[in-house]
Amino acid sequence: MVPILRSLARVGRMLPKIYGKPNYPIRLLSSTKPLRSPTSSILEFDEDVELFRSVVSRFNADVVAPRVEKMDEEEHIDPIIISSLFEMGLMAVETPEEYGGAGASFTAAVAIVEELAKCDPSVSVLNDVHNTLVNTCVRKWGSDYIKETYLPPLATGKLGAFALSEPSAGSDAFALRTRARKLSDGDFVIEGGKMWITNGAEAEIFVVFANADPEKGYRGITAFVVEKPWGVNVVKKEKKLGIRASSTAVLSFDEVHVPKQNVLGVYGQGYKIAIECLNEGRIGIAAQMTGLAQGAFDRAVSYAFKDRQQFGKYIGEFQGMQFQIAQIASEIEAARLLLYNAARIKEAGGQFVKEAAMAKLIASQVAERTASKAVEWMGGVGFTRDEKVEKFYRDAKIGAIYEGTSNIQLQTIAKLIQKSYV
Ligand SMILES: Cc1cc2nc3c(=O)[nH]c(=O)nc-3n(C[C@H](O)[C@H](O)[C@H](O)COP(=O)(O)OP(=O)(O)OC[C@H]3O[C@@H](n4cnc5c(N)ncnc54)[C@H](O)[C@@H]3O)c2cc1C
Repeated sequence: MVPILRSLARVGRMLPKIYGKPNYPIRLLSSTKPLRSPTSSILEFDEDVELFRSVVSRFNADVVAPRVEKMDEEEHIDPIIISSLFEMGLMAVETPEEYGGAGASFTAAVAIVEELAKCDPSVSVLNDVHNTLVNTCVRKWGSDYIKETYLPPLATGKLGAFALSEPSAGSDAFALRTRARKLSDGDFVIEGGKMWITNGAEAEIFVVFANADPEKGYRGITAFVVEKPWGVNVVKKEKKLGIRASSTAVLSFDEVHVPKQNVLGVYGQGYKIAIECLNEGRIGIAAQMTGLAQGAFDRAVSYAFKDRQQFGKYIGEFQGMQFQIAQIASEIEAARLLLYNAARIKEAGGQFVKEAAMAKLIASQVAERTASKAVEWMGGVGFTRDEKVEKFYRDAKIGAIYEGTSNIQLQTIAKLIQKSYV
């Protein structure tokens, strides 16, 4: 069985266990023949991607949706959601089968993030950081030892976090002050602290960036794989405007002893790993924001066309509403096209940095506009917590901040445009 189908077969077996009600079959396909023909939209996907989407969509409806409000109020992800994501094979999408992963495509990973965000952007970012940042770092830059040691637990139950930012190092990420002191036997001791770390409260495996040679500036930055019991302390969980169920933690590293074999990639080249990983990760955030926009749109448009009447007709029948709906639908389509264009170029091994930055920039703007319109379209009901579009509105703001603010995306795009003209 090809890896993707094996993973989906596992999903099919796990769903009844997770939900406790095997009342629908998971359709397993016997081939992975692409759906896309030369005349079809780039938004038509191969069967494996569509299968992942349909599994996540069912998972959203049955497991995530009933918990969204409580998780947001309590600012905490229900552990059943994390364990289910692992059991369904959604936490190691691109990890090769030999390490317990699905061996699926980057596009599949991105589609899962998008689909999860339609229901809960917090669950989406948990999955996104784990797949597109942590797994990717370990898979691409890990030695055989690191891959064998960490990819299987990252595929089956141990959550990962990506620890780069610090109080003094946000947009200027390489101004980090966490230090890695080299010992005489070649091992390291990490000392310092990190801030804003997604999954930080629940994670057991951390990709940590520390400067091992401060005299060399950013060329001293080295990446390490660090296990929580070695001394990673969660100092604080931030209380946030949006994506409140997703943990965002302040971490401290107090004399954390890290064996030399846990250096990720080349000593002193952690900055390259961070840049490359974040370039790719931005496509994941574009997916989160596109999914969020679609989730808010679906709820509000359904309300406008099916639920709410004023002046004797459904509010969606007024031209003033229809033009706004058409405008936002077009913007979501544009965001999605940018997203999957960037994913397609990355998947094919091309230069995708500008396209990824554009996708994240535009998707985060579209998410904010859509969620804002969705609240308006639902009137007073939209402003209450009952309908959850106000949650999408709060959740949307983060798209313009993490994995590079919108200004940083504009800076990247502008630099690459300039380069192509001089
Ligand atoms: C919820 C959340 C989750 C996060 N998750 C993670 C994570 O998992 N791992 C991790 O390492 N980090 C994470 N971060 C950190 C995130 O990546 C940073 O917050 C982000 O890079 C911005 O840094 P900053 O907050 O220090 O803002 P600053 O860098 O202080 O920026 C403040 C403002 O100044 C502008 N600005 C800064 N420099 C320039 C410039 N050169 N030109 C123009 N404008 C500029 C910015 O655009 C922004 O508007 C997370 C943050 C949040 C809020």
